Amino acid sequence: MKRRMAVFCSLLALLIAGLSVAQQKSPVTAIKAGRLIDPETGTVAANQVILIEGEKITGVGPNLAIPSGATVIDLSQLTVLPGLVDAHTHMAITYKEQPENNYYYLTYITDSTALRAIQAASNGMQLLNSGFTVVRDVGNNALYADAALRQAIEQGWLPGPTVIPSGPMIGSTGGQFWPTPEMYKYHNIMFPEYIDANSPDEIVRAVRENMLFGARTIKLCIDCKPWGYSVEDIKLAIREAAKGGCKVEGHVQTADGAQLAIDAGVYIIAHNNALTPDHHRQMAEKGIFLAGTDTPFTPYRGSEAAFKRTVANLRDAWEKKVLLTFSTDMDYWNERMKDPKTGEWLTRGELTINFLETWKAAGIPQADILRAMTINGYKAADIISQRGPIKPGFFADIIAVPGNPLSDIDALRNVRFVMKNGMVFKKDGVMVPEKFFHPGPVKTPNGRWSR
Ligand SMILES: [Zn+2]
Repeated sequence: MKRRMAVFCSLLALLIAGLSVAQQKSPVTAIKAGRLIDPETGTVAANQVILIEGEKITGVGPNLAIPSGATVIDLSQLTVLPGLVDAHTHMAITYKEQPENNYYYLTYITDSTALRAIQAASNGMQLLNSGFTVVRDVGNNALYADAALRQAIEQGWLPGPTVIPSGPMIGSTGGQFWPTPEMYKYHNIMFPEYIDANSPDEIVRAVRENMLFGARTIKLCIDCKPWGYSVEDIKLAIREAAKGGCKVEGHVQTADGAQLAIDAGVYIIAHNNALTPDHHRQMAEKGIFLAGTDTPFTPYRGSEAAFKRTVANLRDAWEKKVLLTFSTDMDYWNERMKDPKTGEWLTRGELTINFLETWKAAGIPQADILRAMTINGYKAADIISQRGPIKPGFFADIIAVPGNPLSDIDALRNVRFVMKNGMVFKKDGVMVPEKFFHPGPVKTPNGRWSR
């Protein structure tokens, strides 16, 4: 018995030693931040130290002792802040002027699901390079390529932002397409670009299927067709989504659709074009987020008249104190998307950050723009309890820029440093993604993602 006890004790000792080795294994990183922005309050603290262990922040303060053996990252000349959020985009579709004349119904025919999934992976890295560490990817995403990309990033195959996927947009007959009878009835053209869901049973089934296949948010097309959803339909989708921990985004393109979405109490409304000042007032009252998708007027997109309306609508939403997010609806490409000075192609990240033009034209204070790009984005993505604040216990998704975005928001165009989940993706303005690539699912060995 004594001997057994001794064996047991030495096994226990080995186990404990093994555990403490495993605990020690998490590398400790210390970031020296010249200035640290808290976007929630719009304040800056000088000379802060951020301690990171593994994927998470463990300490923040002016005089923190840096543990021996810690990797020190010196950002004392830069301003450090949380990663940015694009609250409405589409990484897995790229419609073009050639050959499809910007008609994405044709992109769906010409670009395979596999090609679109790879586009999404590339877009994700380009966005991360510009400081976007969270992306809500809401529909038109190639047979759950959005969910697959999230899974691949989570598992450690490649770098990318935290993807909040919606799966296919759920709509009533026809979605955003106007297909021919033969394409609709004999070739099932709607799926996977959209899920047709008309009756309450179909709505429930569609919401459940999207969540089963990895959606973290549910996207409803409220009024893509004149026979869109009723308040009861939308409420049903909201209730069903809640069972799987998902919030509902309503795509609206008419004033009537906006009112239905507001009355039903969706979490986010996408697109600001059809919203009136009264809608903005109601949204502020109800705490509904707005993903306005506020397209700037550029040599590669838009018109002056449309831009004026977009700016006025964004300004009104801000004046009415709507919960604003930074959102783009980037899902297109053309040959004019080049830097006029260098002639180089603009990256997906640069095209995304260029939406700042609309916010500046609307005269929105820099601190409010930054809040929309960070805290409100994290809230709209429903991950504020895990990511966003640079505080102990949160994932280390951290970026750094020269200058101060609180006095010059364009400083965000020059992201020099990006950390995602505690790993350095960009340093001194150069991508260093090696540590993100693995030949297997190193983070979830059973190959499944957790909800
Ligand atoms: Zn969209």
